[in-house]
This record gives sequence, structure tokens and C-alpha cells, in this order.
Amino acid sequence: MAGLDADLIIIGAGPAGLVAAQYGARANLKTLVIEQIAPGGQILVIDRLENYPGVTEEISGYEFSLALYKQAESFGASFITETVTSIKKPDHFVIGLASGKTLTSFAVILATGSKPGLLGVPGEQEFTSKGVSYCATCDGHFFKNKRMFVVGGGDAACEEARYLSNLTEKVVLVHRRDTFRAQKALAERTLKNPKIEVRFNTIIKEIKGEGKVKSVILENNKTGKTNEEETDAVFIFAGTIPQSALARELGVKLDEGGCIIVDQKMGTNVSGFYAVGDIRNNAFRQVVTAAADGAIAAHNAADYIDESKNKK
Ligand code: NAP
Repeated sequence: MAGLDADLIIIGAGPAGLVAAQYGARANLKTLVIEQIAPGGQILVIDRLENYPGVTEEISGYEFSLALYKQAESFGASFITETVTSIKKPDHFVIGLASGKTLTSFAVILATGSKPGLLGVPGEQEFTSKGVSYCATCDGHFFKNKRMFVVGGGDAACEEARYLSNLTEKVVLVHRRDTFRAQKALAERTLKNPKIEVRFNTIIKEIKGEGKVKSVILENNKTGKTNEEETDAVFIFAGTIPQSALARELGVKLDEGGCIIVDQKMGTNVSGFYAVGDIRNNAFRQVVTAAADGAIAAHNAADYIDESKNKK
């Protein structure tokens, strides 16, 4: 298998992929990262990273991912901007790219993360980018001092509601159950925030407007009562969808939610193929765990690559 393009190819440059790149390069592997947009992944939308161990100064997700990127690059990892269209493993891995090129490697670490889940209510699609948003840090400033609804009960909804509450008088957070899914500390902070009005057992049935969002139809799912309220924006944080289609096509085993099933080495049922971060099953989806996944996968990929080279 002489003359492969890389020892290790990492697909996706969020925290998991960037840390894998750093560990791969430091292990002296020829490490190539393929990212379709820009390094950072989901943490690009975090305005303040406050729970990464040892990082006590205020740092944004963008600044943090830039530091991870520079660190990986300084150890010798290479980066290209391309969209991966296929992964095949006739013997070594063959990565197909949208440009028509292919790249080869001994091992692959998939770090493609997840994308925002949709509510699936009338008006959501029609008003996306016209008042409906999935990213407070990206779009919040368009609605400064305006009326905003936030949907969801997880960490993202609580974090983003806090961010938005600094931009306006009051944010209304609606959640379909009567308890948050978010971590306890975040949930308690949200409930105590005087600028966030939490409405449990409430769903958005429809988003209405004319060219842009003007109102929402709400339903209390305990009483069945509905009402319409004016708003300028609806920020939706209804979970995430793993980006695992490439792995599925390769024959990698997924769980019922579409996450990749990994072992303790972050390995999958396809030898030499690892999955890290939000895309793997049973993940506690934090930057710190994504980083740890990346380190574990790269370390074990290095062993696998050594064995593969010695087999020749
Ligand atoms: P999540 O934890 O899956 O929560 C999604 C929320 O959306 C849930 O409360 C869910 O309600 C609600 N939901 C889902 N579909 C809905 C629908 N059709 N209509 C109404 N509500 C709906 O997702 P997340 O908050 O995006 O977080 C994703 C992962 O990233 C989590 O593992 C989280 O810990 C992590 N994260 C961490 C931080 C942090 O540590 N600071 C910040 C952001 C995200 P139910 O509760 O009723 O299911």
C-alpha cells in the first residue's frame, strides 16, 4: 500500500476532528483533515465557552476552535476544504470528493458531527432566515430589542436563551414538557433568569408571517388551549441529527438514532474506521468529551496504521 495520500484522514474539523488531527500529527502520522466549510463545527456558534476544564478566561467558540486549528497545524496536520461524497474500503480507504478527486489512507476518523433538528411545524421552512433561526449567536443581533421565542428544553435552548436575553427585554422559552432536559445547573440558571419567561407544557403549532415572522400559534399540551402571540423571531433548539450517511454507506453499524456504534477505542465494525464527537453513540455531547474522543481515536488509529504498514 505504498504511496497512499495520507496515513490518517480525518473528516470534519470540529473539536473532535481538530484534536484527532493534533494527536495524529504528533504521533508522526501523515495526517490530513477534510472540512467542507471552516474549522470549528458546532462550537463556532458558542458565544462563551465556560465549561472547558482549565479555561477560565472568556473565550468564544470561534477563538477556541481557531486555537485548536493552529495547534493541529503547528504539529504538521494538513487541511483541505472539500466535500466528501463517498468512503470506500477495498483494501485501504478511498475517499471520494465532490471535486471528482479521490484520496487514500490507511485509517479514517469520521468527525462530521450533527446538524440542527427541525420542529416540523407549518411556517418553519417558509420563514427560515426570515425570523426562524437555529443559531442565536449567528442571528440574534438582527432581533435586538425585539420579541423572541426560543423552543426546546436542552442545554442548547437554555444557553441560547441566555444569550438572547442579553439582547432584548424578555425572551419567551417554550418547552413541550414540564422539566428541562438540560443539565441541572443550566436549567436552574434559566429558571432564575428574570429576562427569560419559561413556559412548560407549551408547543409551537404554527409560525405565521408575511415575508417574515409575525406571530406564533401556541398550544398548552396539558389543557389543549391555543393562542396566537406576536413575535419577530423563533429560535429553535430541538436536538440534533447525526451526519452519518457516509458511514452507513460504508457498512458501519449505527444505532436507532443514526449515531455510529463505537467501542472504547472509538473504533467501529469496519477496521481502521473510527468515529468521534457528536456523531458517535452514547456521547455526552460536550467540547471536552469531543476532544477526548479525538485523542483516543487518533492514538488507536496510530496503532492500527503501524500494524497495517508492518503487514506489507
Ligand atoms: P437535546 O439535549 O437533544 O435537547 C433537545 C430539546 O428539544 C429537548 O428538550 C426536546 O424535548 C426538544 N425537542 C425535540 N424535538 C422537539 C419538537 N419536535 N418539538 C418541541 N421540542 C422538541 O439537544 P441540544 O440542547 O441541542 O443539545 C445537543 C447536545 O449538545 C446535548 O448532548 C447537549 O448536552 C450538548 N450541548 C451542551 C452544551 C453545554 O454544555 N454548554 C450546550 C449546547 C449543547 P424533550 O426534552 O421533551 O425531549
